[in-house]
Amino acid sequence: MINLISDTVTVPDQGMLEAMQHAKVGDDVFREDPTVNAFQKRMSDMFGMEDALFCPSGTMTNQIALRLHLQPTEEIICDVTSHIYQSETGGYGFNSGAAISLIHSDHGIITVDQIKNCIKNGHDWQPISKLVVIENSNNKGGGSVYSLQQMKEISAFCRSKNLKLHLDGARIFNVLVESNDDPHDIGPLFDTISVCLSKGLGAPVGSVLMGSKADIARARRYRKVMGGGMRQVGYLAAACDYAISNNIQKLKIDNARAKVLGETLIGKNYVKSIKPVHTNIVIFILKDHIKDADFIQHLSSLGVLAAPFGENSIRFVYHLDISESDHAKTLIALNDVQKFFK
Ligand SMILES: *Cc1c(COP(=O)(O)O)cnc(C)c1O
Repeated sequence: MINLISDTVTVPDQGMLEAMQHAKVGDDVFREDPTVNAFQKRMSDMFGMEDALFCPSGTMTNQIALRLHLQPTEEIICDVTSHIYQSETGGYGFNSGAAISLIHSDHGIITVDQIKNCIKNGHDWQPISKLVVIENSNNKGGGSVYSLQQMKEISAFCRSKNLKLHLDGARIFNVLVESNDDPHDIGPLFDTISVCLSKGLGAPVGSVLMGSKADIARARRYRKVMGGGMRQVGYLAAACDYAISNNIQKLKIDNARAKVLGETLIGKNYVKSIKPVHTNIVIFILKDHIKDADFIQHLSSLGVLAAPFGENSIRFVYHLDISESDHAKTLIALNDVQKFFK
């Protein structure tokens, strides 16, 4: 089976397993794991931020960021497609007691004007606008991207309004390999950044939260209270470090294949519309008379797994464990699956 359900399905290759096996470890709750310490430093240096914290998941890094920036009765401004809103079990309410103001943007890319329209006036009966979250690339928007210029504009606006700014950069490297921007230019635009190593980069587990020294010191406490303080976790940080050393440039292949898959879908008898393809994600909408479960089943009978993605749409995500021949077979299956919808 060719699994394009998510870029989280990868398993470590031989090189990564060896890096894990040879990792020097210690108790990271006591800050004594040299592999974790070095990896955190590597990431914060790369993004030009003061400090970093290794966490078990991107949900945890995002949730810690929200907790850092928000108090109960304060409000997040973000797009309705955001992972923090759609896919983190309502954690903004559970962990931070926060409210949320949702923007319905084009493909999840919010603008300064849209943020401006969400800011509350400070009346007693309103939540206090406090934090803006952007997602780059944006998953539910079809892997859509913010340019460096767009991020700069949002950052300057947030600073001028005293709003904190968090980047959910779960797939930021899929963006950076296309734009060739230096992560060093991105870090200073945000108060905090979350990056996942367990998506297209291929590590089995691991995300990093980056921010100021003071924020990361507080973040350590929130990680602990969420149960995310881990012991000899250098074995996992070694996998993430290996991913950063070896797998970033490979994301270009995923992005390129996604583009080809998107082009292959054009004109197929089951396709109503396709979201613009920018990175490793392709989302298309089925024609009205076709049920997503039926499409998924027919496609899987041809050896390809995709995800139903709400509102009669289907998502494909490219990743490290898809070979060139898997990719070729997928394109053939997308053609052949038309026979079920004649
Ligand atoms: C996957 C993902 C996360 C984090 O998810 P975990 O599964 O908790 O690691 C956060 N944001 C986005 C946009 C994601 O796609």
